[in-house]
Amino acid sequence: MANPAAPRYVGRFAPSPTGALHFGSLMAAVASCLQAKSQNGLWLVRMEDIDPPREPPGADTLILRALEAYGLAWDGRVLYQSTQDQWHRELIDRLVAEGSAYPCGCSRNELAGAARGPLGPIYAGTCRSGSTASRTAIRLRTTDEPVGYEDLLQGPQSQRLESESGDFVIRRRDGLIAYQLAVAADDSAQGITEVMRGIDLMDSTPRQLHLQRLLGFATPQYAHLPVAVDARGRKLSKSTGARAVPIGEPRPVLVRALQALGQATPAGLADGSLDSIWSWAREHWTPAVLVSQRCVPCPLATAENGLSSSGSSSP
Ligand code: GLU
Repeated sequence: MANPAAPRYVGRFAPSPTGALHFGSLMAAVASCLQAKSQNGLWLVRMEDIDPPREPPGADTLILRALEAYGLAWDGRVLYQSTQDQWHRELIDRLVAEGSAYPCGCSRNELAGAARGPLGPIYAGTCRSGSTASRTAIRLRTTDEPVGYEDLLQGPQSQRLESESGDFVIRRRDGLIAYQLAVAADDSAQGITEVMRGIDLMDSTPRQLHLQRLLGFATPQYAHLPVAVDARGRKLSKSTGARAVPIGEPRPVLVRALQALGQATPAGLADGSLDSIWSWAREHWTPAVLVSQRCVPCPLATAENGLSSSGSSSP
């Protein structure tokens, strides 16, 4: 019998509306949905629309229509992250008031000279003791205490933030809220108990844990999925020519997504109804086959896989 004191599983899919849904995002949506539904949990969709210059008009609708076409039924209403803006700014003000964050006036040129680590440039802490610049970003102070967690698929993870990323941006110089802050805030606001997402975001997790601790938020479980890569081994994305998943006939592509997620689909599964594919997937969902897997080849056409283009459906 379920333990009534245990929090109900709440998972989520949190796309940025920078283009239509491609195969890699479909895999993350399918996996996070199955993980939630196979535990009778909730599966939420959050539209991470916090970077307007990178968001073509209508991309959110394309993503939501694709999820519907694939039978990915989310619970409740889609949370548009832009509606959380005021709260995000209040959290940043609080971190600054507490001394955990500070204005940084370093210019792009100054930052370009920073040492680089595996996660990118490491901020040297130049503005920790103050900045006189008129336009500033806000950075979160970090320490070198290891920030670790046990990833449900990728095993133990740990980072020393100060030496591996340095103090990181939570509000950009152009005033926009940074991804790390928004995601930590809204995973908490939505009561997310487990985050299942692509492994390309695994390096961000310790920064999100650091924010959760400073803000007094609970830390969800994390499970990072292998990402789909093209023939050259590059993660599918708009910039590597990933195409929108077709929405006219979703069944074969849904089955391909299940196979890319390591699920042993029976022959003929794609010939049944969308509902029958989902009931099979829900009943047989076995995330353990993804343990320690970092990437899987994309079985669909991409510019780099050398297959023919589907033309106008490109994101
Ligand atoms: N919005 C992010 C993306 O589309 C994902 C955020 C997350 O899952 O934490 O890459």
